[in-house]
Amino acid sequence: MVDSNCIFCKIANGEIPSKTVYEDERFRAILDISPANRGHVIILAKNHAANIFEMSDEDASQVYVVAKKVATAMQKVLKFDGVNIMQNNGEIAGQTVFHHHMHVIPRYKNDKVTFEYEHLSEGDILGDEEVAQIRALAQG
Ligand code: AMP
Ligand code: ZN
Repeated sequence: MVDSNCIFCKIANGEIPSKTVYEDERFRAILDISPANRGHVIILAKNHAANIFEMSDEDASQVYVVAKKVATAMQKVLKFDGVNIMQNNGEIAGQTVFHHHMHVIPRYKNDKVTFEYEHLSEGDILGDEEVAQIRALAQG
């Protein structure tokens, strides 16, 4: 389904032009308009889903395959030294456009990109009860 108010739906479905590095029946991968690094690409599903929780299992299972294809091609062309593949869900997690997208961010030796956070102490890990609850729900 497409959301007529969503700019990424319009880009993914070709209504708004973009610099496309990959397209198939489900996805379009484009250059990020405000890149974190040289060659920053975002992969957009053609079906609207605000985040991973709304995404269909089919799109969720395919998006990483697309990320692999795109990253492999980009590696050959850009000769990057590493790559971050990530996506944000919710404002607190850094999401600014509420149509699911996967970032493919090339990394080059001595670049200035950071995703740093402080690690919590061991006392902050989950308790057995929470682990059990999550496992029961995740495994269904
Ligand atoms: P996020 O913060 O994970 O929601 O990422 C949103 C990304 O979309 C940012 O990296 C933006 O630079 C990028 N972006 C926003 N609008 C456009 C656009 N019209 N075309 C391409 N990239 C965009
Ligand atoms: Zn959308």
